[in-house]
Amino acid sequence: MIRRLIWVLAGVTACGQALASGESHWGYDEPERWGELKPEYTMCSAGKNQSPVDISGLIKGELPAVGMNYSSGGHEVINNGHTIQVNYKPGSKASVDGREFELKQFHFHAPSENTVDGKSFPLEAHFVHANENGELAVLSVLYEEGEHNEQLAKVWEHMPAEAGGSKVLPTAVHAGDMVSASAGYYRFNGSLTTPPCSEGVRWLVMKDYRTASKEQINQFMETMGGPTNRPVQGVNARIILH
Ligand SMILES: [Zn+2]
Repeated sequence: MIRRLIWVLAGVTACGQALASGESHWGYDEPERWGELKPEYTMCSAGKNQSPVDISGLIKGELPAVGMNYSSGGHEVINNGHTIQVNYKPGSKASVDGREFELKQFHFHAPSENTVDGKSFPLEAHFVHANENGELAVLSVLYEEGEHNEQLAKVWEHMPAEAGGSKVLPTAVHAGDMVSASAGYYRFNGSLTTPPCSEGVRWLVMKDYRTASKEQINQFMETMGGPTNRPVQGVNARIILH
């Protein structure tokens, strides 16, 4: 009951912030209704290639290596009411499908949005990249509960408690210390997992799972006031390669 109340209050804060910035409010209490909130959100209910998904029924593919040319550019942490996001300085690139995508920001969801063979993880990070044409590629890292994570700690220490808060990180975070494709990855096409749920997003979920401590997971969950995961969506005609 108390947990529910905290979550509702956090929702009010998030919505207040969203309204102040001119955005329609949405939340994780009724994700199945996002498509009805605004005409621009129609894909949230009408889309057939939506994210997240349960990663199963895999097909073996000849997946190319992902080139990562990252520098230490995570310089600012914000609480936007929906997630904790680290904004990245220009110049860090990943090559996906032979094209260059620049790392813009990374942010978190708890519990995980994507699941693997029905298994949910306590935390997931999304490294959001865009190319010159505005196409998106998201590199996802799944976290299991375990050892304290030093890289997360650099962000968590400065996590703004209130929606709308931001802080400059005294020590820039290096994405290269947080995400690696060396163990391979799951590859599928999907969408943004938040409104407007736009499709055409390249998804790469890393097989190299990381750990976060119970305290770190709880700190994120408590700051956000509840779960921040959209439920898994139908795979439909898509194939998931590995
Ligand atoms: Zn995300």
